[in-house]
Amino acid sequence: MSKKLIIANWKMSPSTYAKAETLFLATLAAARKLSRVETVVCPPFPWLTDISHKYKKSISFGAQDVFWEEGGAYTGEVSPTMLKGSGVKYVIIGHSERRLYLQETDEMINKKMLAALRAGLVPILCVGEWTRKGRPWKWIKNFVRKQLAEDLRGIAKIAGGSQKIVVAYEPVWAISTFGGGPDKPEDSLKIIKFIKGILDSRFQIPDSKVIYGGSVNAKNAVDFLKYPDVEGALVGGASLRAGEFGKILSEANLINAKPSL
Ligand code: PEP
Repeated sequence: MSKKLIIANWKMSPSTYAKAETLFLATLAAARKLSRVETVVCPPFPWLTDISHKYKKSISFGAQDVFWEEGGAYTGEVSPTMLKGSGVKYVIIGHSERRLYLQETDEMINKKMLAALRAGLVPILCVGEWTRKGRPWKWIKNFVRKQLAEDLRGIAKIAGGSQKIVVAYEPVWAISTFGGGPDKPEDSLKIIKFIKGILDSRFQIPDSKVIYGGSVNAKNAVDFLKYPDVEGALVGGASLRAGEFGKILSEANLINAKPSL
């Protein structure tokens, strides 16, 4: 059975390097004990480079964004090769907060996906509907299918780079800061299976994982992760509380030790 992928998205926290290092070390202490989980820590850029250089190879690192060009006059941007050179393995692309606050479009997200793959990074593509109120399942599936079609356009043609992707199904309303509370695990499972079907039938990606994100915490993690098709979790708020995140990691590790449902 493959390892569950548990990703800590720290967003724009903690506020100082000292706090970030303390959180990192507590996360590392919990992650190190576990053999059936891959833990990925995604700090904000300044802490990411400092921590990834200092604690090389201790854990997997992820960035929260990347630009699609390799160099040039792009003030404020960071290239895929810079990330790769800083020991970063994963990069979150198309997070709903960037789609919302930075007006990232599917066209921009697609360019980032292609550039990340070419550089050998593993992109974590976030997809998911803004609302489910009054919408039939057909509408939700069409929404997700369209995001995947646009965001993954041309990825089968990437040669020589990373052939791995992670898709995080994150119903936006379920993200803790949007206040809706977690999705029903069986509803997310339905969409995750749908995404897997699309990845298999439409895109030739030899190695992909589909995970869930949205208000995952120590109490509910098992309800999502118990399904073999839910191959991991993207955790925002709870990843800033090392004790709670450690519990999520050990739950994932325990589940993976049990036979498939
Ligand atoms: C997220 O922002 O991707 C996320 C899943 O956040 P939270 O866990 O806080 O809902």
